Amino acid sequence: MNIRTQQTLRYIGIVLLVMLAMYFYLGTMLKDSMSKRITSELEIQAALITEFFIDKLPTEANFSYDAIDPLVDRLGKTEKARVTFIGTDGTVWGDTERNGQALRAMDNHLARPEVQAALKDGIGIRDRYSDTTQTEFRYFAMPIYRNAGTEDSSNGTGTLIGICRVALPMEAVNTAIGNLRQVVLIASVAGLILAIVFSVLSTGAIIKPIEKLTQMTQSLAAGNITSRVPVDSRNELGQLSQNFNLMADRVQEQIDKISEEHRRSETILRNMGEGVLLVNGVSEITYANPTAISMLGLPDDYIGKALIEINRIPELQALLQKAEQIETVAFAEIRLGNLTEPEVEVTVVPVSAGQEYVIVIHDVTRERQLERIRADFVANVSHELRTPLTTIRGYAETLLGEDFVRTKKGEQFIVKILNHSTRLSRLVSDLLELSRLELGEVELKRSPHHLNTFYEPILDVFEPLLEESGLALKWEIPDELPEVNIDKQLFMQIFVNLIDNAIKYTPDGGTITVSAETDISDVFDELNMSVEEVIVHVKDTGIGIPMESQPRVFERFYRVDKGRAQEMGGTGLGLAIAKHIVLRHNGRIWLDSVLGQGSVFHVAVPLSD
Ligand code: ADP
Repeated sequence: MNIRTQQTLRYIGIVLLVMLAMYFYLGTMLKDSMSKRITSELEIQAALITEFFIDKLPTEANFSYDAIDPLVDRLGKTEKARVTFIGTDGTVWGDTERNGQALRAMDNHLARPEVQAALKDGIGIRDRYSDTTQTEFRYFAMPIYRNAGTEDSSNGTGTLIGICRVALPMEAVNTAIGNLRQVVLIASVAGLILAIVFSVLSTGAIIKPIEKLTQMTQSLAAGNITSRVPVDSRNELGQLSQNFNLMADRVQEQIDKISEEHRRSETILRNMGEGVLLVNGVSEITYANPTAISMLGLPDDYIGKALIEINRIPELQALLQKAEQIETVAFAEIRLGNLTEPEVEVTVVPVSAGQEYVIVIHDVTRERQLERIRADFVANVSHELRTPLTTIRGYAETLLGEDFVRTKKGEQFIVKILNHSTRLSRLVSDLLELSRLELGEVELKRSPHHLNTFYEPILDVFEPLLEESGLALKWEIPDELPEVNIDKQLFMQIFVNLIDNAIKYTPDGGTITVSAETDISDVFDELNMSVEEVIVHVKDTGIGIPMESQPRVFERFYRVDKGRAQEMGGTGLGLAIAKHIVLRHNGRIWLDSVLGQGSVFHVAVPLSD
């Protein structure tokens, strides 16, 4: 039911209620007052008639129909009421409504209630339906006393000669009530029409804007955000319409903004070189950009399909599971499909509490290719340089040892040639080693070794150097340390490079400490188990490394102080080589250093490998 119908019904209800109340109230009032008027009229008439009877009636013994009825009829004519005279025994001697035989045939009226009441109380009033006249009458009966002695014959002290009864029809009352009913009915109908017209007019002003608002909200809900309501009043409804329009403006602004952002991200996603996939909590694809579609060879109907169903890449599935387990970003390098297909870096980012995952696939084939070309080139150049360098060094050494050198200067030059070619040889062999490590050409020959087995060979290499610079080497690796599965020769290279650096960058009289322990790392393996590692620390009391250089020292050719490093005979490749060897062992390398106080290099290798 709409507001208009509700309002109309409400008005109709009010009108009906008022009319009904009026009808009952006025009806009662009218009936009451008319009834009172009739009664008083009857009373006056009865009093007059009584007087008349006392005056005109013959003595009781001479009562006869012929004597009394004409009297009664005469009275009836003057009073315009029905007048009846009843004898003390109940005989109706005269009645305005009956004459002759009919009068004589009338019932005995002694038992009539008004007559009984009159005899008992002096006055009898009754409303009754008269069988004689076939209408409703109000009867007013009074006893008639005749008393010669006193004037007042109604005090009951005289002789009762009969009962006078006057009656007026109640028709007038009923007609008046009927008229009233008619008036009320007409007024009600008029009121109802007015109520309907009024409610239509009054609700129209309220409903129209509401209808417009409703239409607008419906149209908004249907997606037509440009629709607005006309504001044509300043009242609350006008305010509401205005607010609605404002709200619609805001919604439109927001939608425009979101659409713009969406369009922008869509453009970015469509044109980016990386493949981007969105999968839900059960690994079903919800989005894929064109690059991802072509990289993974997704069919047209990929939306809603499980990733594993479309593309059986176990590594990708495992990575997704890993991200799900660790609830953070997971990263891996994998080969898509068969070996001829591209090699990619895949990052899985969980979003909205594991409900969705963003998979970013970055094709690194080209980078790898370039890296390989570079490493190949370096390896080739180094290799090619090695032979002539060896020859130069050989000749220089021979020259020094022979008597060819006649002058001091000549000797100095040859020493310089020798030193530089030695440095160059070291550089070339470092470069070659690094390239081979990068190219994966170095094969690991792993076997379990206790780290203390490195002590002797290290001492053999560094003892003269240590003594020369007055440095102490403390070897504090405990015997209980478990053996580690490593390539001994390559691991020796790590020790050599780290200790060599420590010696180079620690002033005379300092201490180098080598220690190790086992630890549970915060790195997780594929099965999401934390890894137990052996961590080696090479600590010195040297010059330290400034904060900003710390992340860069593992880069090839990076040196904090180029002049000093060169002076020390460094190539800038030592730490890069160490890092690559550690990575080949699935380990980690990092450092802590305080400028002017010393550095600690840490190497962690997993025990399970
Ligand atoms: P280099 O052959 O020059 O020593 P590395 O790769 O071994 O090259 O080291 C890179 C740079 O890191 C060094 O040039 C030096 O500046 C810094 N460095 C390495 N180890 C230490 C150390 N123990 N103390 C201070 N600086 C160091």
